[in-house]
Amino acid sequence: MSKYYQPEIETMDREELRKLQNDKFLATFKRVYENVEYYRNLCDEKGIKPDDIKSIDDLHLLPFITKDDLRECYPDGLLACPRSECVRIHSTSGTTGKRVVAFYTQNDIDLWEDCCARALTAAGADSSDTVQICYGYGLFTGGLGLHGGAQKIQALALPMSSGNTERQIQFMSDLGSTVLCCTPSYAEYLGEIMKEQNLNETSKLKAGIFGAEAWTQEMREGIEKSLGIKAYDIYGLTELSGPGVSFECEEQKGMHINEDHFIAEIINPDTGEVLPMGEKGELVFTSIDKEAFPLIRYRTKDICVLDDTPCSCGRTFIRMAKPMGRSDDMLIIRGVNVFPSQIEAVLIQEGYGSNYQIIVSREHHSDKLDLYVEMNPDTVIDTVKGISAKEKELVGKLKIMLGIVVAVHLTPPKTIERNVAGGKIQRVIDNRNLY
Ligand SMILES: [Zn+2]
Repeated sequence: MSKYYQPEIETMDREELRKLQNDKFLATFKRVYENVEYYRNLCDEKGIKPDDIKSIDDLHLLPFITKDDLRECYPDGLLACPRSECVRIHSTSGTTGKRVVAFYTQNDIDLWEDCCARALTAAGADSSDTVQICYGYGLFTGGLGLHGGAQKIQALALPMSSGNTERQIQFMSDLGSTVLCCTPSYAEYLGEIMKEQNLNETSKLKAGIFGAEAWTQEMREGIEKSLGIKAYDIYGLTELSGPGVSFECEEQKGMHINEDHFIAEIINPDTGEVLPMGEKGELVFTSIDKEAFPLIRYRTKDICVLDDTPCSCGRTFIRMAKPMGRSDDMLIIRGVNVFPSQIEAVLIQEGYGSNYQIIVSREHHSDKLDLYVEMNPDTVIDTVKGISAKEKELVGKLKIMLGIVVAVHLTPPKTIERNVAGGKIQRVIDNRNLY
């Protein structure tokens, strides 16, 4: 069994890697500048001419791309190749307003699957393994990404998709799954159920690759214990391809960034200034060899630290820490991106004021969002039935906007804490302790 999927790249000499990045970056910048009008305008606004960008050292001169830019360009304003050359799209979860559509050429898919194959190999998988994939298949990148990676290493892929726990456990046991890919909270849940049924004794699982949501070291230890496996972290964004932008090796000391495809920077989220290696800030990625949807200096909003000290696994790619929070107020609820501003928009539209509070918790391995809203003093309802009907109505409206079910609690006027101190009012309380 090889330790690496592509040893010549994964253990490449740093200087050689820098040259490779430089060439790919210059070619991508030129192509995006020429083909994407929106990007050209961004550069023009900053007074950047193509000749100003002579090497990778000039990357910091370029404008950032943000989620707002992606929204503005919805659906295909940032496409850098003819649409006829694309073979697939994926999309982020969330509302129609916040949705991001990413396009892929066959080559983009191929390189992305290589990244997932590297992650699987680093987790000890090879052609003798049975890889059970319980990430969602479809627009979400998790399922098809790991599926492609599993096929690249010629493992037996079980495309289970998410949900139906009974069937997951049945297949896992009947087919002898050895590697599990899903969200960490689902892995926790599976571990609990299997323990209850004494199935973890006979399970053949040896490793799991878990991502798409934040999880703590304590969660890792719990999963490793309940499932009797080694649990690996994986990181990615639909905007950049999907899972596999970075992955953990057996050292489990940060995730190696696939630097032959992505350049990482850490910036000060307030000033945009690039910070030195090892400092904490917002993670920014540039994809340097994507054909359809290359993003240059994309702000992930994830707060993170990079580490360029050598790793004993032999990979020369730098590592990123597990994200330590967000530089915006986005919440990830059961894998869906939720912005408090979206909730506020629904409340205003439905005639409620801005006195509300969002409480996020995790119960039985699943995220829960409770929304407390004050009734309008002019339209106070005082029957239980009446309140419950109004709550249901709001649940429906929020479901349309957010794509998830929110537990709505209407409260009498003046029951939610006011901003009496004049400081920052805490509208969102996240009790999950994920970071
Ligand atoms: Zn390593």
